[in-house]
Amino acid sequence: MNYCSNCGHTISLLVPKGDDRERHCCGNCGSIHYFNPRIIVGCLPVWEDKILLCKRGIEPRLGYWTLPAGFMELGETTEQGAIRETWEESRAEVDVERLHGIYNIPHINQVYFIYLAQMRSPNFETTPESSEIELVRVEDIPWDNLAFRVMDIALKNFIEDKPATFTEVHHAEIAPGK
Ligand code: ZN
Repeated sequence: MNYCSNCGHTISLLVPKGDDRERHCCGNCGSIHYFNPRIIVGCLPVWEDKILLCKRGIEPRLGYWTLPAGFMELGETTEQGAIRETWEESRAEVDVERLHGIYNIPHINQVYFIYLAQMRSPNFETTPESSEIELVRVEDIPWDNLAFRVMDIALKNFIEDKPATFTEVHHAEIAPGK
């Protein structure tokens, strides 16, 4: 951030009084602009013995497979956001079963909340965000063509959970690199 979004003055990186780290401070109007991690919410939608995967129709990672997920919106809960993102990306209607995992990616300031969800029907449709959608068996997951490492981990956690006796929430921290 170079200019204050409140008054347009140039911004300085300073440690505000009483704080312990640099913030984007405006010397003109006194505004302090805070930047915090972004929350990404999504589902691992299940129908019988299959998982719903979406092929990304947009960048980043165009053409790679992912679970439906996206940025949480203001005014919604993580669970509502996960259901909304699933609908927006796949037109699948789901009922959330439980929180599957919380995945921290501190080097890009993202936190994922992935919910295990049951599809209400095997229905789905491609959308502007997803060029292809498939219900895949665990043995057919395209491991080499997944869009994000977080999805790889979430899917592996799901497989580890079989038989479904594991009901705790998975936690993982994803470091930079492969
Ligand atoms: Zn200002």
